[in-house]
Amino acid sequence: MKIGVIGGGQLGRMLALAGTPLGMSFAFLDPAPDACAGALGEHIRADYGDQDHLRQLADEVDLVTFEFESVPAETVAFLSQFVPVYPSAQALRIARDRWFEKSLFKDLGIPTPAFADIQSQADLDAAAGTIGLPAVLKTRTLGYDGKGQKVLRTAADVAGAFAELGSVPCILEGFVPFTGEVSLIAVRARDGETRFYPLVHNSHDSGILRLSIASSDHPLQALAEDYVGRVLEHLDYVGVMAFEFFEVDGGLKANEIAPRVHNSGHWTIEGAECSQFENHLRAVAGLPLGSTAKLGESAMLNFIGTVPPVDRVVAIEDCHLHHYGKAFKAGRKVGHATLRCADRATLEERIAAVEALIAHD
Ligand code: AMP
Repeated sequence: MKIGVIGGGQLGRMLALAGTPLGMSFAFLDPAPDACAGALGEHIRADYGDQDHLRQLADEVDLVTFEFESVPAETVAFLSQFVPVYPSAQALRIARDRWFEKSLFKDLGIPTPAFADIQSQADLDAAAGTIGLPAVLKTRTLGYDGKGQKVLRTAADVAGAFAELGSVPCILEGFVPFTGEVSLIAVRARDGETRFYPLVHNSHDSGILRLSIASSDHPLQALAEDYVGRVLEHLDYVGVMAFEFFEVDGGLKANEIAPRVHNSGHWTIEGAECSQFENHLRAVAGLPLGSTAKLGESAMLNFIGTVPPVDRVVAIEDCHLHHYGKAFKAGRKVGHATLRCADRATLEERIAAVEALIAHD
């Protein structure tokens, strides 16, 4: 079976690494000449709106999936005429726009921060009054890794903030005084079977994910599964979805969804029976899902900007290196390490050992 992937970054690369043993082959459509997934399959170098190359992709593959959600709606609609596309155009439309996303949470009774649609500075001035400060202004689309957003703490921050984010459609969200950030990675098959990985604790720095630790028997697991299950059912979703929550007052508030494999699920490559990448491929290909059970205690640390010397990373016991083969650049995710240990104390030690390598970089 040949899988077409829109986007050829590290998520596409890890999909190919998981799918190759299943007998799958891959074609990636990505305009970047150095797209790192290209080393693991065919690379169709073209813009996402290039209909000739989209048609070529559709003709060559059995189905199409995505490794990022900011795909133009027209691209999805065009491809869908010729080949099955998972997840659906509707799921992508919602996940790529924070207004649609938060409106869906509200409609499905899933707690989320107070939010308002912002089309002008006047809208922002009014919403800052009703939602109150501090608040977070975010572009509705194309935001990632903390980009396209600004925390507003004072009236002075509010003035001119709409122009600062580019005078594009935004939402204003109430600032959540969270005690932690967690994500739930879920997978839903074509026949509706749904499985969930254990909740993951995530730590960010400058808006970029640094560390994910898979939890054991998290008290909010069942609640998170209930919320995510509602979204999956509503969308008749097929594939892996990542759902990010704020932990607050002993409950959860939904932050955002990603209709794809997710950085906070990378620990599953060595830390779970069947990884998020393999399970996504199984789901879209109509295969039975694999077990989401955790193997030991597991964590993932991102390498941002550079990968530490390979010999030093692999010298750490229980540590697995994933080098994306991308050019090193400040602020760029260029690799990660997965840890899988027998117990929590050992995991903490190994995390500190990897962190020491990152700090000395
Ligand atoms: P996002 O791109 O929406 O995931 O936001 C990036 C990061 O900004 C989150 O992981 C949080 O740490 C922080 N953040 C986003 N929205 C809020 C909010 N409403 N209240 C507090 N912190 C937030």
